[in-house]
Amino acid sequence: MNEAYDLLWKQILNNLRKTVSKDFFNYFNNTSLVELNENKAVITTNTIINSYMLNSEKDAISAAFEELFNSKFDIDIEYVENYKRNIFTETIFEEFNDNLSDEFTFDNFIEGPSNLEAKTAALACATAPGNRYYNPLIIYGNSGLGKTHLLNAIGNFIKKNDNENRILYISSRDFVNEVVKALKDNTIDDYKNKLNTLDVLLVDDIQFLSGKEKSNEIFFDIYNELFNNRKQVVLTSDRLPSEIKDIHDRLKTRFSQGLAVTITSLEYETAYKILESKMIQHNIDNIDSDVIGFLATNFRSDVRQLEGSLNRIIFYATNFSKNPDKNIDLELCTEAFKGQQAIIIDSQRPLEIGSIIKAVCDYYGLTKQQIISKSRTKNIATARHIAMFLCRKHLDESFDKIGDAFGGKDHTTVMSACEKIEKLVKDDEVYKKIISDIENVFIKK
Ligand code: ADP
Ligand code: MG
Repeated sequence: MNEAYDLLWKQILNNLRKTVSKDFFNYFNNTSLVELNENKAVITTNTIINSYMLNSEKDAISAAFEELFNSKFDIDIEYVENYKRNIFTETIFEEFNDNLSDEFTFDNFIEGPSNLEAKTAALACATAPGNRYYNPLIIYGNSGLGKTHLLNAIGNFIKKNDNENRILYISSRDFVNEVVKALKDNTIDDYKNKLNTLDVLLVDDIQFLSGKEKSNEIFFDIYNELFNNRKQVVLTSDRLPSEIKDIHDRLKTRFSQGLAVTITSLEYETAYKILESKMIQHNIDNIDSDVIGFLATNFRSDVRQLEGSLNRIIFYATNFSKNPDKNIDLELCTEAFKGQQAIIIDSQRPLEIGSIIKAVCDYYGLTKQQIISKSRTKNIATARHIAMFLCRKHLDESFDKIGDAFGGKDHTTVMSACEKIEKLVKDDEVYKKIISDIENVFIKK
């Protein structure tokens, strides 16, 4: 490619022609000089055998360089494809950024029944990445329950144990953006090659691949390449792969190849422990335990909200407490959340069909209209059946009354929905989890 190198190489070949046999000279066909600095020259060959043969005549080649430049050179002879690959690897590693957030680790992840399964799997995977039992590992759960935290913890753990590993954390939104950009710039092969050389790929929120045709395709290729090379892939999603709309079936099949684990809503004790650990982290020791209990009860559906509630109460106490030396007590706490009364009262109201329907809608990302409609679309129908089942289980309403609340459905429809879900819950761990996830939302402690 470099004209000056080409001319030099021609000249050196002319010298070599005089020193090596005619037959041997054939091994110089299709060779190039690709690098030359003060004391080193790199020559590429277009076959492996040629590189092997020329390596046996390095001295002659070195002498030819010396004749021309009057100084000694180290000669490196490489098969052109290997050379290109090495160059590529060197350049991408120079500018490689793993995107990991180092504040998320296993050490500061509080364990409880709701996340134990996910944490155990994440730790196992971080300890022995690439193991086929959890490749891919997919962690699913509602927003704010620690998926991103665990994904980063895996990356940070692997990095700490062996910093030779090439790790990338990426949200599927960013992945889609990168793909779109690379397609536009005509650099999609480079982007794919870059990801294909990873040891660990951590993709957050894969539900955003939904409907992104080209990104699905490219992700599929990268996934296969990594999987076939026993590289670890970890994914998170806010819903089951089977519930993600407009994502290639072949991707869904791949996702179900490894291990899927769920994080469910926190139980009171875990929420309490998280608050305690945050307080230690921030050197806070002036909050009464019944206040912590209040926060753990009312904000445990989302750890982000839980942390927010702690921030709010500290902010309130610092700025508005009449007696700043006193501990933060329940009275101050009630004041601090005055404006948010609605949320709290809501959670203490007796359970109604409406709140069950709402919890199911939130879980599936559907509207109430969709749930009570006649639609037979799979996820809508499943959500409807689950909501009917939950109403029957928790409210002990008659089938007729439940049918009425679901847009005037016949009692036999409700009955068969309940039977169907009851059976699924018995036979299928996944359904069992969905149900307990949803229950966790509407049954507050
Ligand atoms: P998700 O990705 O599931 O929406 P995140 O991982 O972003 O949730 O978690 C939200 C916040 O809650 C983060 O600050 C995270 O560190 C914290 N968090 C979640 N679960 C835990 C846990 N079990 N222990 C400690 N912090 C947690
Ligand atoms: Mg997240």
